[in-house]
Amino acid sequence: MTKDNLRYFPQRFTFILNPYKDTRLSSCPKCRRLTHMRKFALLIHIEKFGFLTLGKTCRYCSPCELIMAHQDELEDELVHVFENQSPEIIGNPYLVFGTVDIKWWKQSLGTSGESLSQLLEHVTQFKSVLDLKMTGGWQPEKKPRPVK
Ligand SMILES: [Zn+2]
Repeated sequence: MTKDNLRYFPQRFTFILNPYKDTRLSSCPKCRRLTHMRKFALLIHIEKFGFLTLGKTCRYCSPCELIMAHQDELEDELVHVFENQSPEIIGNPYLVFGTVDIKWWKQSLGTSGESLSQLLEHVTQFKSVLDLKMTGGWQPEKKPRPVK
């Protein structure tokens, strides 16, 4: 992958990786409307590995085009992917970069494997990635943060 490949992705969706286990995001943190569940094929870049496409059911707000994933669930699934094949990858820094067209991704499953260039033609980069910040009366319990 060269820098040139990274430049021209269409951009769509805002993404939040929710670090709070007790916050279920049943309403949208931006507009307060109810969210619903939708499956996305998330494109994740993992250091020393490269790109991984992970099918993941996320909370979604259609008016905001906001995708919300729980960090602990996402990381559990990453562990599951790597624990047998490449356990040395587990714990590496990663970045949820965007989504892959879900129809294309489903079709490509079970075929002899997609090439990276084919995959990149179906990628949508996130427009922005937000931090979830809690304010007011519903602060999550204080928990020790994992040391990185
Ligand atoms: Zn919203």
